[in-house]
Amino acid sequence: MRSLATWTIVIWAALHTGALDQAPQRTQAPATDGRLNIIAFGAHPDDCDQRAGGTAAKYAALGHRVRFVSITNGDAGHQTEGGGALAARRRAEAQAAGRKIGVDYVVLDNHDGELLPTLAVREQIIRQIRQWNADLVLAPRPNDYHPDHRYTGILVQDAAYMVVVPNVAPDTPALRKNPVFMYFEDGFQKPQPFAPDVAVSIDEVIDKKIDMLDAHVSQMYEWLPWVAGNLEAVPKDPTARRRWLFETRAPRPTPAVRATLVQWYGKEKGDAVRYAEAFEICEYGTRPDQAMIRKLFPFLP
Ligand SMILES: [Zn+2]
Repeated sequence: MRSLATWTIVIWAALHTGALDQAPQRTQAPATDGRLNIIAFGAHPDDCDQRAGGTAAKYAALGHRVRFVSITNGDAGHQTEGGGALAARRRAEAQAAGRKIGVDYVVLDNHDGELLPTLAVREQIIRQIRQWNADLVLAPRPNDYHPDHRYTGILVQDAAYMVVVPNVAPDTPALRKNPVFMYFEDGFQKPQPFAPDVAVSIDEVIDKKIDMLDAHVSQMYEWLPWVAGNLEAVPKDPTARRRWLFETRAPRPTPAVRATLVQWYGKEKGDAVRYAEAFEICEYGTRPDQAMIRKLFPFLP
């Protein structure tokens, strides 16, 4: 018969070799409930709305899960306000915007105008992508006038492979399947212009997109017109200023986006689309074929 001391040693050894513990979960499989998990990253709490708000509204209407993540808290984006008070205002605006179309909106607490592609921020992004169990990740291209936008592009690229590596950010189970990564549309020409692979008609949700933008009062009606030198052009009346927002912000297709619309929707429908959002496939992550693109964009005809 073993003594109490011997049993103590046996139990201690079992605990410390993991024999009595559940092994920690190192990876997670894709969701199997038929709903897509989409996550979009912007540098500031209105960036995702401008580039993918209409597409997000279409996903949400079909019951898919969308999360928008702002990597900075937006605390530099105003001509007369700043710091914690502005960050709080912008967080509230982002959450109001998310509620307009039924998407989740996360604002990370990194300073606006100071974003750098550090390991700490990369790990924040890896965790976000894993926690959302993402099928599709959207982000800016890393060539943009604004350093925060540029580094958001770099940071998401830097996360694109690491999300499947269990030993990186090991507190959050790694994805077993690498998501598809795609870029938002932009107008920058160097080193190469945006090359759309997918274009989505947002005609039936354009008002929802403008409603989202309308929630970002500090940006759409204060900061952005001020920095552009046309603050006096903003109407004072809320109905008139929303109309002005529509006229100045509803995204009309470029020739390249029009060609991509025709490719996906056919000549007649593609030519008739008034408002669109477009996306370019990133070379990192899973490279989707046509069938996978149709699965990831279920509203394409
Ligand atoms: Zn921005």
